[in-house]
Formats: sequence, C-alpha cells, structure tokens
Amino acid sequence: MNTPTHVMLNALVLGRGRWLSHWLAISGGAVAPDLSMVFLFAYERVVRGTPERVIWSTRYFDPDWQLVVDLFNSFPLIGLGALVAWRLRATAWLAFFASMALHCVTDLLVHREDAHAHFFPLSSWRFISPVSYWDPRHYGWLVGPLELLLIVGGALVLFRSETRVWRRIGRGVLVATVVFIAFAVTNWAF
Ligand SMILES: [Zn+2]
Repeated sequence: MNTPTHVMLNALVLGRGRWLSHWLAISGGAVAPDLSMVFLFAYERVVRGTPERVIWSTRYFDPDWQLVVDLFNSFPLIGLGALVAWRLRATAWLAFFASMALHCVTDLLVHREDAHAHFFPLSSWRFISPVSYWDPRHYGWLVGPLELLLIVGGALVLFRSETRVWRRIGRGVLVATVVFIAFAVTNWAF
C-alpha cells in the first residue's frame, strides 16, 4: 500500500481516544516500515547510480535488501518492541509499534511477488496475496481508486478534528498524494 494511505488509515484507526495526543508516534509508525524502501532507493540511486527501473525490478529482490526490508516489516520484532514499551508504560512507543503493526497487516493483504517476510526472523514464509495494490492484473485497478477514496474521505474526517495537528496531518497527506500522483503521471506515464 502507498505510504500516504498508511498514514491516513492509521490516523483514523489509532488517532482517537487516549491516543489522540500521540499523533507523532502514530504517523511515525505508519511511515517506519517504508523507510527501508527509502534507504534502498536513496543508496541505489544516489550512491550506486542504479537506474530506477533496475532498482524495483532487480535490486529490490536482492537478498541483502530483502533482509533490510524484512527487518522493518517483522511482526515478531514489532511485537517485541510493543512488549517492552508496554512493560515500561511508554504509551507513545506502544502507539508507534501498534501503528507499525497495522501498516504490516494492511501490506500483507495487498502484496504479491513483492510480499515481505512478515514473520522474520522466526520464519521466511511470505503470504502471497491474490490482491496487489499496484498490479492491474491482480485488482490493482480497484485498490488504487480505493486508496484514493480512503485518503480523500479520511482527510474530510480529519479536517473536522478538534486537534489542530490532526487537521494538519489530513492536509499534509492530501498534498503528498497530489504530489505523488503528479510525479507518477509525469514520470511513469507516456
Ligand atoms: Zn509498506
């Protein structure tokens, strides 16, 4: 699933009640699993000068990079972090790890050949979902518009929040989505 969708979904699901004030932890946890992809892209593109197409078709599947990605998407490690946070009564960190877990649950449902080993290091098993968030041959044509609907609908909900920072997050996700679509259209479509 695309990163802005994670931020919106996690804000709607987790950013309420006692966790209303944990906007930073929830947004951070929603982004964290995808930071591995940012590292991968930045290193391959800037340091090694790998063409973008090769990064996602070949380098992404390199075992070393898969290890990095799996570390950031591991239910056992996230669970361990959550357990420590809970024991220490560190509620912000608990919200952070809960947000990471929710990100991974939603990713699990919409990844196919790019599925993560979510149970690393206990198991290298990957759930190959029948649904892909990007591949039109596997319902990507449906997931894309649904993600957009969730972002627009979610932004409308956040705009009505009494907390200023949540309203800002709603606006930020909306702007990020528009920028992302503009980038995708100008770079990938022809
Ligand atoms: Zn992800």
